[in-house]
Amino acid sequence: MTVPCIITVAITGSLPRKNDNPAVPITISEQIESTHEAFEAGATLVHLHVRNDDESPSSDPDRFAQVIDGIRKHCPGIITQVSTGGRSGAGHERGGMLYLKPDMASLATGSVNFPTRVYDNEPELVDWLAQEMRKYGIKPEIEAFDLSMIFQAVSMQKSGSIVGPLHVQFVMGVKNAMPVDREVFEFYIKTLKRLAPDATWTGAGIGRNQIEVARWSLELGGHCRTGLEDNIRLNRNTLAPSNAALVKQVVDACERFGRRPATADEARALLSISEAVRPSA
Ligand code: ZN
Repeated sequence: MTVPCIITVAITGSLPRKNDNPAVPITISEQIESTHEAFEAGATLVHLHVRNDDESPSSDPDRFAQVIDGIRKHCPGIITQVSTGGRSGAGHERGGMLYLKPDMASLATGSVNFPTRVYDNEPELVDWLAQEMRKYGIKPEIEAFDLSMIFQAVSMQKSGSIVGPLHVQFVMGVKNAMPVDREVFEFYIKTLKRLAPDATWTGAGIGRNQIEVARWSLELGGHCRTGLEDNIRLNRNTLAPSNAALVKQVVDACERFGRRPATADEARALLSISEAVRPSA
């Protein structure tokens, strides 16, 4: 019997630009179209940043609203997840779109170095974002850039500031943060299982190790994230022609590990997320 795997597609991010890879979707219609293709290819969770027309990162809730609405129309049941990362604005701006009630939102529970800056997540901001997510019934995806962030998430669940069960994403391969390391990856999983036995998890490999981390996740019973936000190449020599092509790479890897892409309904059940919101008419 095959075990369903939730494939997350991180379609845009805040860094890659059209001139790095023309397939990176920037405009609202490009984002909806790219998500639709990825959904058809097997993705059932979309991670979203929005951009201004000049490609710079945007924190405009209106843009988020239009993208989410279009995605809900074209990809029935897909789980929508907004980024509350450091490029969705500053301070509380980072959660300025949460009132739109996406299904999920990312939540980094600590700070870490990024390639050229500090990704700062002060305790006050983390608590405030978690509180907003609780208020609007949004499930957080814990972004674990190192081990301490897993402990912090578990402690927040115990104190009631995060509603369980936890969903944690292990992020590896960001320059100056945790490299792609199999032993650490296995220790993350073991630690999460020990501290929060009902938690689910996803592996996210950034850059050229994307597919390797996806294979580890398939092998070890987790879920996978792919997409142009994290990696613009299909392999060393080829730019990825689309988000869908990256999703297909994960789908193709499933069989060898006794896995298959989850349907949207299965993904919702696995993450304890209620029924899909109907798009506006
Ligand atoms: Zn992101």
